[in-house]
Amino acid sequence: MNLDDKNLQELFNLADKFGNKRYHRLTPQDFEDYRKFDYWRYTNGDSECETTQESKDWVRDHSDWHCPICGARFAEQGGRTIDHKLPRAQYPWLSLDFRNLWVICRPCNQEKAEMHWYEYEHYMLTHHPDWYLAVKDARPVQLLKTLREQ
Ligand SMILES: [Zn+2]
Repeated sequence: MNLDDKNLQELFNLADKFGNKRYHRLTPQDFEDYRKFDYWRYTNGDSECETTQESKDWVRDHSDWHCPICGARFAEQGGRTIDHKLPRAQYPWLSLDFRNLWVICRPCNQEKAEMHWYEYEHYMLTHHPDWYLAVKDARPVQLLKTLREQ
């Protein structure tokens, strides 16, 4: 695999810089979207996903039987979770941007935690090289571009 770590680090720093800049300009609409996502995902005060018909439909339309990262069957991994490719702790205005969401299994979600995308790619490259290409293919190219433009 021919991958330049330094370049990844530069991209990560750039995305983080623009992310932080944007963070100080959050609008009321950003917070409203953030709140709506919680409702969409955590109705009934339940942290399980797939709890509203709307989110159930979305999860059904955006996943098959296997986790796109590790390839394991969701049924054997504790089910499907909705993950933010760019963590909403850092990018709350992207919490309801569907380009930022994907369905992955619970252990993969827990392992990914609050890593920034490039940090996560680097982590996967070093910890799970067999799964790296699947993650790279899921890179949210458009979103990362918008961060650069802001
Ligand atoms: Zn997985």
